[in-house]
Amino acid sequence: MTLSEKFFKKAQQVIPGGVNSPVRAFKSVGGTPPFIREAQGATLIDVDGKRYIDYVGSWGPMIAGHSHPHVVSAIKNTAEKGASFGAPTYAEVYLAQKIVEIVPSMEMVRLVNSGTEATMSALRLARAATKRDAILKFDGCYHGHADSLLVSAGSGAATFGVPSSPGVTSKTAEDTLTLPFNDLQAVDALFLKKGMQIAAIIVEPVAGNMGCVLPKPGFLEGLRRICDTYGALLIFDEVMTGFRVDRGGAQHYYNIKPDLTTLGKIIGGGLPVGAYGGRRDLMEQISPSGPVYQAGTLSGNPLATAAGMAMIKIISAPGFYETLDWRTQRLTDGISDVLTQAGVPHLGTRVGSMFGLFFTDEPVVENFEQAARSNMNRFNRWFHGMLGEGVYLAPSQYEAGFLSFAHTDSVIDETLAAAKKVAATLMD
Ligand SMILES: *Cc1c(COP(=O)(O)O)cnc(C)c1O
Repeated sequence: MTLSEKFFKKAQQVIPGGVNSPVRAFKSVGGTPPFIREAQGATLIDVDGKRYIDYVGSWGPMIAGHSHPHVVSAIKNTAEKGASFGAPTYAEVYLAQKIVEIVPSMEMVRLVNSGTEATMSALRLARAATKRDAILKFDGCYHGHADSLLVSAGSGAATFGVPSSPGVTSKTAEDTLTLPFNDLQAVDALFLKKGMQIAAIIVEPVAGNMGCVLPKPGFLEGLRRICDTYGALLIFDEVMTGFRVDRGGAQHYYNIKPDLTTLGKIIGGGLPVGAYGGRRDLMEQISPSGPVYQAGTLSGNPLATAAGMAMIKIISAPGFYETLDWRTQRLTDGISDVLTQAGVPHLGTRVGSMFGLFFTDEPVVENFEQAARSNMNRFNRWFHGMLGEGVYLAPSQYEAGFLSFAHTDSVIDETLAAAKKVAATLMD
């Protein structure tokens, strides 16, 4: 029995499913998740001493690589001066200023502790500002685990949503409408019927929680137009795409201005952070400058803020995103080549250093239904094959992969050699 197996068994006795966030348990691919001892650059080392090239990067935050010396020293230096005060610090102002400079649509920003908190708070603000109750989300987009966002499509398009978890009331779910991602016609039709009841559209501008699914040309522009027509707010959930697909996020990459934006992951440099922000007239409605309540004992925490500032400095280096971009292209082209040579049907997707790989015959994957037609069995074999070769991919067909700056050419070469071996076994 490996140490990971031993730990996982113990963990399941005291933590539900043995993990503190479900996907870590490897349920969809089976097997025991390696327990991680430490990480450096592009490498994870598990408790049994096995090394992996990491393409999860803590689900996005580690864009600079693990244990980047600047992030480490920022956290160390700050910790020596006190971990939390529950009172204002100048570092919060500095980080907020940086975010406002970098993300074009954000005029003011409030720091919170997770992406979930950011989206939940942005929705509350949108409902308060528009005095409307309903929101629209897209199937397969994940926006954290707040009740009103744990909702999936009812039977038939444009019906009221149904809870996707026990414990979410049907009353709550009724206020969340859901439609297929990339279906602008359906959004138009829904707004024609219910537009004046809808407070906001919330969307992942590049969907990263059903694999990596790109917006069709015109989709995001169309959402902007519809929101303007009906006086609804457009919320870009950039918890994943922010500082990832581009320094200014997907909104900079696609040149669309949302009313509100949510951030998380990279902005914390690996510590628990989220943020939401946008138009000044909206953000001024947040307590204490306005009536919309939202608070947090540890919000703007000094350690998290310091890590976030260090991260922003790292990603602001000239050429940072260009380098990530061509390295990721090299990786995804390389993987596509070895799969093609092995006769494995697949579809690769990529924006910046965020990528997806669907084992599918479909010519395109534009929404959750198409993503779900992928060959899950083949994905599982790919996943476990790569893990065996020391490449740690996300343990689900429905997750995106991420490159970090520490994924150098030689790391990519090593990954492609592993991919070649594994690809050869997939059609047996
Ligand atoms: C990860 C994620 C969230 C949730 O963030 P947490 O910090 O896990 O609460 C929300 N939206 C998107 C797009 C995400 O990828």
